[in-house]
Amino acid sequence: MGGEAGEERIKIGLEIHCQLTNLRTKLFCGCPADYRGSPPNTHICPICMGLPGTLPSPNKRAIEDGVAVAIALNSEISRRMTFFRKNYFYPDLPKNFQISQYDGGGGVPLARGGYLDIEGGKRIRIRRIQIEEDPAKLVHEGTIGDSAATLVDNNRAGVALLEIVTEPDIEDPREARAFLEKLRGILECLGVSNGELEGAMRCDANISIGGGTRVEIKNISSFKEVERALAFEITRQRQLLARGIGVRRETRHWDEVRRITVSLRAKEEEEDYRYFPEPDIVPIEISEDFIESVRRRMPELPDQRKERYMREFGLQEHNAELISSNNALWRLFEECVKMGGDPIEVSNWLVGDLISFTRELGMELTDPRVSPRKIVELVNLIRSGAISTKIAKDVLMESLRGDESPEEIVRRRGLLKISDESLLRGIVEEVFRENEGAVKEALRDEDVVNFLIGQVMRKTRGKADPKLTYELVKRNLERIAHGEGPSA
Ligand SMILES: [Zn+2]
Repeated sequence: MGGEAGEERIKIGLEIHCQLTNLRTKLFCGCPADYRGSPPNTHICPICMGLPGTLPSPNKRAIEDGVAVAIALNSEISRRMTFFRKNYFYPDLPKNFQISQYDGGGGVPLARGGYLDIEGGKRIRIRRIQIEEDPAKLVHEGTIGDSAATLVDNNRAGVALLEIVTEPDIEDPREARAFLEKLRGILECLGVSNGELEGAMRCDANISIGGGTRVEIKNISSFKEVERALAFEITRQRQLLARGIGVRRETRHWDEVRRITVSLRAKEEEEDYRYFPEPDIVPIEISEDFIESVRRRMPELPDQRKERYMREFGLQEHNAELISSNNALWRLFEECVKMGGDPIEVSNWLVGDLISFTRELGMELTDPRVSPRKIVELVNLIRSGAISTKIAKDVLMESLRGDESPEEIVRRRGLLKISDESLLRGIVEEVFRENEGAVKEALRDEDVVNFLIGQVMRKTRGKADPKLTYELVKRNLERIAHGEGPSA
């Protein structure tokens, strides 16, 4: 991928914040971590509100989750990590500082380095992974008197976040999306974060063209929006450069409604957060045993699964990649194989029509109507020659819409392929009688042979066995050519 020929090189780096949504409690206190759907400001305590005299106590599960992600991203885990205070004054920060980590000034984040390979073998390097707490949620709605009001919900304050920062190795908005989707698959597979939850994965992106000024785009809400925001920003910067205007170093906001980026603030230098070591938390030692115990509990990761599918089942790389990186798809695939479905056929149906049909119907792949039994029945009906591939597509669509299985639909609608020779011969003869002119032309013109076959298909509503139909039509034509009658 990358820029088109003759264009300047694009460099994109991402900074992703993922909530560790599977933790029961917040990062430094015992408050419930699940803030979604609870009445505002009910999951708070003196610790996450930063009242004087309280002591934060790190959540061990959060560190285990962070280590698992670091292992999955091939990062080097720090043996002694530290927490730092990031100081800034804003309504979403009840303590007026965020407990975070810092790479520099004596600070050591959870992990450094690492990489993630996306489809096509492109490697995106990871710069660092750190643990920090989420700020409160600001809700910009409601009024006080005549003026618009911003409400603060502190339930989110103190929820555990993992910050993953990449090197600027991404060269295309589509690569950014592919990276994010693969990362989400890994986090879900590890059981540390459910990226489908609103606000569970948020992304900032920085982008520069031709080694020029870096522009940062803040707080993009979904992967689709990341792709759009970056595409817009590339066009904007190219137009500026083409007109000889320099790109300003600044932070921009992605306006999802207008689909443009707008300037938030000029950024001449790094903001001063006056980072300093968090005095209430001692540095955390991470032992080799601890890392090993996390590693032992880790499930098969998407890349390992992909390799196994190619090796064990002979899947093509494209199918293996798509299936292994989507949790709903690989679970479905493995169920189908367990039920005796041919792995290659099953994989073709999953990545082809199943994905597009469910999208068309607005269904999730986890919908109970998408059952492995339906896929296996469909594949077996085609393999046994009972239905054609064309009919199978209709059957799959109908089966997804309701509760009937493909076999039930085929039986009820009488869709079994007609491969009974005497039955089909009668239909072919009928077509020959009704199309005398075309039959004469078909003796000279192969295209007209296809027309005759099409007529047989029309009469049988697509159910005629295509191979047998072709043979019967050709045989009849040969007889006519040799001066014999059309019937056998
Ligand atoms: Zn609390």
